[in-house]
Amino acid sequence: MSTTFRIAALAGDGIGPEVMKEAIAVLRAVEKKFSLSLQITEAPVGWAGIDAYGTALSDNVLQLCKDSHAILFGSVGLPDRDNTVPKDQRPERAALLRLRKEFSLYANLRPVRLYPELVHACPLRTERISKGVDVLVVRELTGGLYFGQPKVTTELPDGQKKAVDSMVYTTHEVERIAHVAFRAARLRRKLVTSTDKANVLESGILWRDVVTEVAKQYPDVTLEHMLADNAAMQLILNPGRFDVLLCENTFGDMLSDEAAALAGSLGMLPSASLGAATGAETTFGLYEPAGGSAPDIAGKGIANPLAQILSATLLLRYSLGLDREAAAVEAAIAKVIASGKQTRDVCAPENKSPVGTREMGQAICDAILA
Ligand code: NAD
Repeated sequence: MSTTFRIAALAGDGIGPEVMKEAIAVLRAVEKKFSLSLQITEAPVGWAGIDAYGTALSDNVLQLCKDSHAILFGSVGLPDRDNTVPKDQRPERAALLRLRKEFSLYANLRPVRLYPELVHACPLRTERISKGVDVLVVRELTGGLYFGQPKVTTELPDGQKKAVDSMVYTTHEVERIAHVAFRAARLRRKLVTSTDKANVLESGILWRDVVTEVAKQYPDVTLEHMLADNAAMQLILNPGRFDVLLCENTFGDMLSDEAAALAGSLGMLPSASLGAATGAETTFGLYEPAGGSAPDIAGKGIANPLAQILSATLLLRYSLGLDREAAAVEAAIAKVIASGKQTRDVCAPENKSPVGTREMGQAICDAILA
């Protein structure tokens, strides 16, 4: 008997509903092509949640997420409405951060791929990207400098202030994120570049030791260590050398944004936040575009739906274990981009007729079903 996969689809605000519609259409095309059973349940979050239920993430929507194999998230937040509710009730905190906490989403994956037909959108000179750009940043999301204790500001006797943040990691925290990176590398080009500052940080030495130990369980994957500052430089000098870039929280925050710039538009960038493993190879996860609700273009039908559609492919791969199906969507996207279709955000100067959100989504569905 085939499994029914349950997906909570939370479109949110701004361009969220427009791009989510296309991602759901693509999932339906995958369902048809591969004879799967997907139970996709849509529910309001963010300002849409506040308007519907009086809160950005209501208990019934949270329960829907708990009953699902994965969450496909759009984006939340409307700056114009920010001052109408207390800070802790704003959607970014009350919906997104609450979901991350509720499901202990400790691994953030951000694939950055520059398609050959979109090199004009990359800020690097063409000779720097001759090998292409196809990097997966795996960032630890719940430990390190952002959460370590002590984290405090005190006043010194002379009136100055002293602020302390602590970069804290345990063996377990490093082990579990390293496993995510090695498992992901197995589905790619089998190279993990682990970044740290083992030359100056105690936590960096532990990080390097633990990652080296975990690597022994993945003899088919090559591991290299690189100081985080050098990694920042190599991403610009030779981005094509990277496959999986493993980072602790703070370095990952910076390196993932740097890598993201290489793709040319936020509209091209998906992300996955993974929690505890639910099966040998699958994990519960929240999948969302790296960008926000883009209120400046919302409602115009011009948003790039690829970040949302690519988020759905990550969901297929990491939470449902459907690698072949995910690869089919990726191939369809590559084919549509190769055919010359471009949304406005990645449009070449000579292209005078960019496609809209709907047309891009439809083209991908057609390519999957062709
Ligand atoms: P943003 O990412 O929404 O937009 C930045 C720029 O990128 C805008 O010019 C926008 O038009 C463009 N852009 C983003 N996605 C695009 C797409 N798919 N296609 C084409 N262009 C795209 O960032 P912002 O304007 O700083 O934030 C807007 C709101 O989104 C704020 O309320 C913010 O808090 C929220 N936000 C939410 C999330 C989330 O839900 N995860 C993440 C970031 C920002």
